[in-house]
Amino acid sequence: MKAVAVFLRSQQVTVIEQEAPRLCEPGQVLLRTLDVGICGTDKEICSFEYGTPPPGSDHLVIGHESLAEIVQVGSAVERFGVGDLVVPSVRRPCPHPGCLACRSGHQDYCYTGEFTERGIKEAHGYMAEYVVDHERHMNLVPPGLREIAVLAEPLTIAEKALAQISGMMQHRPPWLDPQAPAQERGQGLSALVLGIGPVGLLGAMTLAAAGFTTYVYSREAPPNPRIDLVTAIGATYVCAQATTFPDLAAQIGNIDLIYEAAGHSHFALQALQVLGTNGIFVLTGVPGLQAFIQADPARLMRDMVLKNQVLLGTVNAGPEDFASALADLDAFQRRWPDAVRTLIAGRYLPEQAADLILGRPAGIKSVIAFGL
Ligand SMILES: [Zn+2]
Ligand SMILES: [Zn+2]
Repeated sequence: MKAVAVFLRSQQVTVIEQEAPRLCEPGQVLLRTLDVGICGTDKEICSFEYGTPPPGSDHLVIGHESLAEIVQVGSAVERFGVGDLVVPSVRRPCPHPGCLACRSGHQDYCYTGEFTERGIKEAHGYMAEYVVDHERHMNLVPPGLREIAVLAEPLTIAEKALAQISGMMQHRPPWLDPQAPAQERGQGLSALVLGIGPVGLLGAMTLAAAGFTTYVYSREAPPNPRIDLVTAIGATYVCAQATTFPDLAAQIGNIDLIYEAAGHSHFALQALQVLGTNGIFVLTGVPGLQAFIQADPARLMRDMVLKNQVLLGTVNAGPEDFASALADLDAFQRRWPDAVRTLIAGRYLPEQAADLILGRPAGIKSVIAFGL
C-alpha cells in the first residue's frame, strides 16, 4: 500500500510502498483512509524542523487530520462496525503510572511530555491507505459529514479552548447566567480572532456559532477567499495593514475574548494590550524562532491584575472535544452551507502531498484523498 513518508536523514518527502497493517489485538480496528488534511505542522515536519519517527525507523509516515472508514473490527470491538466513518484522535498516552492526565484518558493534558502523536511524534500517521488503531481512539462520524469531517481534528483546537473558557466566562463576571445553552454562551460578548489560517477560521466559526460578536484580524487584504468566508459567517474582517490595534479596540469596545491563532509573538503581545476588562486571552499558535522583541511587562501585569484578565494556552484535544467538533461541523453545515463548501480547497493524490505541503497554501484546507 501507499504511504507518504518523511526521511529525516536524507531530507526527503516521498510516497513509499509498504505492507498493509493487520489487526493484532482484539480491540483494534482496520481503517481505510479516505481524507487527510494538511496543515502547518506537516509543513514544519516536511521542512525537518519538527517531528520524530518511531524508535528504530528511519522515516515517519505523516498525516494527523484524518477521516477513515472501518473495514475490519477485532473480536472485542464494541462501539464500531464495518462501514462506520471515523475520525481518529492524534495523541497517545505516556507510559508513566503517575501521570494522572494520561491515566484518566486525557493525554491532551499530559504532565510528562512523553506522549506519542500519530504522524508527528514517535508514531506513524494516517497518510497511508490502511491504518490499524485501537477503537478507544476513534470518534464516530455521521454519514452526512463525509465531505467535511476531515476538518474535525483541526476544529478540536477551538472546541477545547471554548470548553475551557465557557465555564469561566459564565461564572466571571458573576452576573452572567451559568445555565445558558451552548449557542448562547457568547451572547452579548465580543471575540477577536487573530490569524486567518484554518485554525483561526474554524475558531471564528465556533465563536460565531456560540453567539459571540466575532471579529477576525489579520495581515491579508481583500480579495481573498478566507476573508469572504469570515464575512459569510456574519463575522467582521479587519485588515491589520489598514487598522492598528488601538483603532480596532475603539471599534469593538470591550474585547471579552481574544483567540490567538497566528503563532506570532509580537502580534500576540500587541493584542494582549487591548484585551478588555474581565477578558480572556487564548493562545493556540506555536511560534517558531522569531525576532527578539521588547515588551513592558509591568504594564501587562498591571493590566492583567486591574482588569481581572486570564491568559490561557491550550493544545491538542480530548474525546469530548472531538464530539463537539463533529456536532459543530453539522451545525456549521446547516447554518452556512455555502461557506462550508469553500472550506476544502481541493482533494489531491498522495503523490502531490510534498508539493502541496511545502508550497504556498491555496484556498483554506487542502486534502490528500486516497482512492480518488
Ligand atoms: Zn494539523
Ligand atoms: Zn502523560
